[in-house]
Amino acid sequence: MGTTSRRPRFESWGRYPELQADVVPLHWTTDFPPSKTPATKYLPVGLGRSYGDVCLLEHGTLLLTPGMDRLLSFDAGTGVLRCEAGASLQQILDFAVPRGFFLPVTPGTKFVTVGGSIANDIHGKNHHVAGSFGRHVLRFELVRSDGSRFVCSPIENPDWFAATIGGMGLTGLITWAEIRLRPIVSRMIDYRGDKFHGIDEFFGLSQAAKTEYTVAWIDCVSTGRNFARGIFMQGEHTQIPGPLRRSKEARLVFPCDLPEFALNRLSMAAFNSLYFHKQLGKTKIGPVDYEPFFYPLDAVLHWNRMYGQHGLLQFQNVLPHATGREGMLEILKAITKSGLASFLAVIKFFGDVPSVGMMSFPAPGVMLALDFPIRKQVSFDLVDRLAKITLEHGGRMYSAKDARMTAEQYQAFYPQWQEFTRYVDPQFDSAFWQRVTGRRPLDG
Ligand SMILES: Cc1cc2nc3c(=O)[nH]c(=O)nc-3n(C[C@H](O)[C@H](O)[C@H](O)COP(=O)(O)OP(=O)(O)OC[C@H]3O[C@@H](n4cnc5c(N)ncnc54)[C@H](O)[C@@H]3O)c2cc1C
Repeated sequence: MGTTSRRPRFESWGRYPELQADVVPLHWTTDFPPSKTPATKYLPVGLGRSYGDVCLLEHGTLLLTPGMDRLLSFDAGTGVLRCEAGASLQQILDFAVPRGFFLPVTPGTKFVTVGGSIANDIHGKNHHVAGSFGRHVLRFELVRSDGSRFVCSPIENPDWFAATIGGMGLTGLITWAEIRLRPIVSRMIDYRGDKFHGIDEFFGLSQAAKTEYTVAWIDCVSTGRNFARGIFMQGEHTQIPGPLRRSKEARLVFPCDLPEFALNRLSMAAFNSLYFHKQLGKTKIGPVDYEPFFYPLDAVLHWNRMYGQHGLLQFQNVLPHATGREGMLEILKAITKSGLASFLAVIKFFGDVPSVGMMSFPAPGVMLALDFPIRKQVSFDLVDRLAKITLEHGGRMYSAKDARMTAEQYQAFYPQWQEFTRYVDPQFDSAFWQRVTGRRPLDG
């Protein structure tokens, strides 16, 4: 096991909460557990792209996995890739795209690890056809703090397979995994963007869409006749053979924390208006490269600094179709009224493809995700209110993005949590898990 280095802090993407922990970088799949397991709590972490505290553990030991990042084998006949759990989706794309393969499911950033993708059972723009990431995982190795290591798959230790997919790093350390990639013939995506005005037009476009990838950007700042306007974006891997080169590295870095006053109702309204009008006509059709289609935010590294030193809260929920329209309207009204929303709001229909994870977030219905700058009590109160509306409408919130759910809310969103505790490693814990099991109080 690598040497323990005291780091001032390991940040999640939202930079909130700030918690101190020891950080142990892992380089080999055999680095954990140490020969003598000290009386400490552990939590594996990847690239810290979760927004809240699911990747944080105060006074514990974070097992930092990105140094355990080798691609181990690839079968071009089946598309099956075996890699260590710290390998990032960026690494996989750099390897796979030139060979004519792509990820089966990808989130809105490629700077996440395979272990993190499994542990949060991430979803992407193709959820309605492909389901979440775990469905494309064939096997992985799980290492427990008592030194036991076992392979999990739908047929080998299937209960551990289900508990670990979406298991938030609590069931043990994933050391390697096998995932199935999908073939492509070009980097290019056949794109279509349609402007919409209001939630009903968004619902209509979502119901009519037949493409593999769909997502909409929605304006959560404007009111009046611009309330809930947006752009519905659809795409498909093109069938026309084209470039299969690897991507260039992002060079732009957000240089510093913006002062609090920079993000205000006016600047956010201006951005939302610009974004809406950047597409001139009602509909835009044409080929686009996969990078801006899937990862527009990855072009600027450390963009979370834009929210200033207090960081950001993300709110992400899903409401069932039966209550989705009314619930989302109530949520959108609460957000626009607060004037707090940022420019990065997305809304999408999830499909009814079941997740294999016991604690996975996706469910059939309509999903909303957006960021709020942290303005202490104001943003906390708003997110708490949105959580209440979610609960009243029979929905649930996403652990990977959360820093505010109460224990009561979490346990109502995920009633299977008690069954899940049977699989939690006795030496593993997280700040999130402490909060949602009622062992850590909420701020404010
Ligand atoms: C810009 C942006 C866009 C995003 N878009 C989406 C999206 O569209 N869909 C979506 O689902 N998510 C999205 N996310 C969230 C992100 O995909 C998840 O939070 C992902 O899990 C982060 O992976 P990571 O490697 O950074 O893991 P971390 O955030 O470091 O950890 C995440 C969880 O995985 C566990 N973990 C990590 N490695 C291991 C391991 N080897 N073994 C066991 N457990 C492990 C940790 O304990 C923790 O619980 C987005 C995040 C950002 C910043």
